[in-house]
Amino acid sequence: MTLTDLDRHHVWHPFTQAQTAPDAIPIASAKGIRLYAEDGREFLDLISSWWVNTHGHAHPTIAAAIAKQAQTLEQVIFAGFTHQPAAQLAYELVQRLPKGLTRVFFSDDGSTAVEVALKMALQYWHNQGETQRTRFLAFEGGYHGDTVGAMSAGKGCGFFDTYGSLLFEVGLLPFPETWDGDTEVEAKEQASLARLDEYLADHGNTLAAVIMEPLIQGSSGMRMCRPEFLQALATRLRAAGILLIFDEVMTGFGRTGAMFASLKAQVTPDIICLSKGLTAGFLPLSVTVASEAIYAAFLGDTFDKAFVHGHSFTANPLGCAAALASLQVFEDEQTLAKLPQIEAWHRQGLATLAAHPLVQRVRVMGTIAAFDVIATDAGYTSQIGAQLKAFFHERGLLLRPLGNVVYLLPPYCIAESELRHAYKVIFLSLMTLSPPA
Ligand SMILES: *Cc1c(COP(=O)(O)O)cnc(C)c1O
Repeated sequence: MTLTDLDRHHVWHPFTQAQTAPDAIPIASAKGIRLYAEDGREFLDLISSWWVNTHGHAHPTIAAAIAKQAQTLEQVIFAGFTHQPAAQLAYELVQRLPKGLTRVFFSDDGSTAVEVALKMALQYWHNQGETQRTRFLAFEGGYHGDTVGAMSAGKGCGFFDTYGSLLFEVGLLPFPETWDGDTEVEAKEQASLARLDEYLADHGNTLAAVIMEPLIQGSSGMRMCRPEFLQALATRLRAAGILLIFDEVMTGFGRTGAMFASLKAQVTPDIICLSKGLTAGFLPLSVTVASEAIYAAFLGDTFDKAFVHGHSFTANPLGCAAALASLQVFEDEQTLAKLPQIEAWHRQGLATLAAHPLVQRVRVMGTIAAFDVIATDAGYTSQIGAQLKAFFHERGLLLRPLGNVVYLLPPYCIAESELRHAYKVIFLSLMTLSPPA
């Protein structure tokens, strides 16, 4: 049987309607920003393989670090035991994160990093006798992962209506989405803050934490907001004594042009969730990093104050070794210094599209560029998404529009010529769409 036969008969793919989706493309190998298919086709990976890859595929430094670690210590229980890669990684992350985030809790993926953050926030209050603080507040359009707590916090992204009966109640604030040339952003921000004030007046005493994707909401369409908004939000929450959780699962590790969105926005949350870029796209690993004050609230003479959470593979040494090697590559290759260049190339590319009558809401932040295609069926299930995706695949581009939102989120090793080529193909793709009614 061919790979495609095996796949068709036995594999269940994520976020896929198998009945109508084309066969999955079999990839044999990858290098840099290129994916090589079994049948000889090549693809430019312009979405970093679902936003996880940072330095390009099969980076030799990271591959070697994993191989070496695999021959030394592949896994050990992390309750009562520790190891060099985990302790070193915790230290290295704390050096790079906003000051005050000092305690690193390991888990396996973005969703579990969020579950950990929600449970931590709840128990932080519980341990101090504030057992009434059980509410969470999130943002419309926010996405935090596919496990039950993460779906509850992310129900504003609209993917999870089927699972409504599983979800707990979470309040939602409007997200003051903005784009190039937007003249109403301040009004949107004021409206969102006003809703927060109302919510605090009504529920401030029972609120445990606010969770959000800082600066960019990924899954709901690369929706961007201003640092000023995050600063105003954080100031209000600090005054009210409410915890702030930043889900930087997507924005972490350079995506916004800074190492973390929180650094770019100059806002320090109480808890931060990191995953996608953590191991440079090699292995599943995540961390939830908390302030020392939060950690302290879990100390006591009895077990019931402890954080009762852990996974079989907590702080897997291979993942930690990959993450350490990735941080080393950030330094060796001066990766952060290259990111403004990518942003400039995006701006040039978008300038070639901006005048197209179907293009609106052009936006860029760091390595991420996006625009909306005007559509009568705007949203994740817009027909335009499937149509454009097929066009891109046929021309060797891995691009995966979020409905009618086209975005690029490339690995940091991309060359100017490769990005320029992508924009050319995107321009051609727009020619295949009918003009706006
Ligand atoms: C992808 C994502 C998650 C979920 O991460 P998984 O590794 O897919 O579980 C959570 N939050 C944000 C902001 C994400 O982009």
